[in-house]
Parts: sequence; structure tokens; C-alpha cells
Amino acid sequence: MTVATGPKIELHVHLEGTVRPATLLAMARRNGEPLPATTVEGLTELYRFRDFDHFIEIWILTTHVMRTAEDFRQVVVDYAAEASAHGAVYIEGIFSPWFRVQRGISWEEIFHGYADGVAEARERYGLEMRLTPDVDRILPPEAACEVARQAVRFRDRGIVGLGLGGPEVNHPPEPYARAFAIAADGGLAAVPHAGETSGPDSIRGALDALGARRIRHGIRAVDDPDLVVELVERGIVLDVCPVSNLRTSSVESLAAHPLPALVAAGVRCSLATDDPAMFDTDLGREHTVAAALGVRARDLYEAGVAGALCDTPTRERLAAIGAGADWDGTQAALDRAAGTDSPAAGVIAMASADGIGTGTVFQ
Ligand SMILES: [Zn+2]
Repeated sequence: MTVATGPKIELHVHLEGTVRPATLLAMARRNGEPLPATTVEGLTELYRFRDFDHFIEIWILTTHVMRTAEDFRQVVVDYAAEASAHGAVYIEGIFSPWFRVQRGISWEEIFHGYADGVAEARERYGLEMRLTPDVDRILPPEAACEVARQAVRFRDRGIVGLGLGGPEVNHPPEPYARAFAIAADGGLAAVPHAGETSGPDSIRGALDALGARRIRHGIRAVDDPDLVVELVERGIVLDVCPVSNLRTSSVESLAAHPLPALVAAGVRCSLATDDPAMFDTDLGREHTVAAALGVRARDLYEAGVAGALCDTPTRERLAAIGAGADWDGTQAALDRAAGTDSPAAGVIAMASADGIGTGTVFQ
């Protein structure tokens, strides 16, 4: 069920993870790259992740089929169409160039391909997008520095930040401090993942060693009241992805998700899909889940305005869109979709939302 209500800002979406199975299969055929499954059903089955490490393994196995500037452009434009149908007005897209470069693709092909997609998304859908390439935590620190230098080189093509992703357990952020210093010198903000599958120390490392402007996920901050206070005082925005956390078993259930506790404590949280094609989610579903958790769409949007790595005129435009939105109507529609407009229905909504983790379709 689609709930296309209210404007949305998405700050945490991996562009490689937005490609729906049918498109991925077409790209694989076009580029002569094998996939571990040859049908939509087979890929969907492959996307039932046991845990976070299994997800990363499948991510690497499937995303290598994207090879050309045309592929990267198409990925952005396709997702822009999907997200704008859900009301998206601003998106920061993530991509991981290092893996592609290792397979013989040039930096130019990758960065210009994605950036051309961003320009086309603006023309076709009026959707404002920016890009934040990611460093993977399994890279040697010198490779991470090279990604940072390349990201700076393409700054005039909509690159606004540098991220850190991949397996968080046993891969702390500190070794990547130099890469993020290079990015900062080049005018790029630090937007690392942290506090997804590791605890508060990982978030502190991202803040202190990398100078994080925002934290992607950051949900384990809830385990450390002092850290929660620090996030509130510093105005650090967390880019939270509830369905992703459920799919990778980073949370036990949606009912146990830290998002409502963080928001109640005053932490600014934006809402995002992470890898929507792989996690069988979209912006509408995430907002329905947030409503089921009692989190208001307006708060999520305003956190997005605060956290966006855009220029001042764009931020003012996003704030004006928020100020002019019908938030009461939006929230009422989301609450109806979530079943939280009546107490008995709310219990059923949470039960069915948890059910999506075991393969049951959520509405
Ligand atoms: Zn992510």
C-alpha cells in the first residue's frame, strides 16, 4: 500500500541498493555480468538476509553488474521517479565508487554517471539531489584517502559529503580520520554510518575522529544517556532506517526500535530507506512504520531540513515547503495507514509491521 502524503526528505539511501530486481537483471544481461540469481523471484529470495554480514555479502555479489555511466545515470533517475511519487523533495544519495574502480571502471564514468542522473532528476521531477560517496570500512586507510581526494575533485558536480559504510563490528572509524580530513579540507562534510550494529563508542569515534556532521543510523546512542544529551546539544541529526534495521536483525522487532525513544529525548531524526530494493521498503512504508511507532512526519521532515548538506537557498526552499504542508492531513493519513487512529487497530498495526521481518507483506 502506498501512502503518498506529505513532503519527504531522504538523507540515507544507497543508490546501488535502490535498483529493483527486474532492472538489475536487465543490467546484468546488458553488461554480460553474472548474478547469483536469474529471475526476479530468485533475487527476491536472495534478499532474505540472515544478518548484517549476509546482507553485505549479497550487496557485493549483486551491485557489480552496474558498469557504465549510463547504468549509474539510470539508477539515479529511476529512484528519483520512485521517490518523488512518495513526495520526496530532496535526497542525498550514497554510492561506493571503490568497488567499481577495482573492476576497471574509471572515476569519471562513475561520478559523471551519477551526477548526470542528478541533473536529469531535477529536470524531469523537480527533485533536488546531492551525492555523498561512501568509503567502505574494509578498505585500507590509503584507499579511503583516494576516495576522499576523488570526491573533492568532483565537488562541482553535486558531491557534498563523504560517508563511511560497510561492516561496523571490529571496524572502528578512527583509522579513516585522515580520509575525512582530506574531505573536510575540500569542503565536504562527514556523514558516516555508526551505531547501527556497534554501540555508542562507534558513534563517539565518528563524531570525534571523523568530525561527523550527521550520523547514519546512530540508533545505539539510545544505550548511552550521556551520548543522547550530547547529540541533542550539538544538534546532530540521525538518519534512521527502521525497516533496514529489522531486515539486518540490527533490532529484534519494529516495536523495539529506538526511534521513538530518541525522538522523545529530543534527538533530531530523519527517516530513510537505506537500500529499498534489497529491504523491500520505500519512503511510504517507512513513514507508515514511523506513524505506527508514534513519530510525527513533520518532525522527521524538519530534521531533514536541518541535516541536509545543501546551500542556504535550497535549505530555505525546503523549509518553505515544510511550512506550507498540510501536516495534520498528512499525519491523519499516515495514522490511518498504520492503524494507530484507534488503540485496538494500533496493536494490530505493530504486529503486522513486525511481520514484515519474517517475509509477511506489510499491508
Ligand atoms: Zn546505509
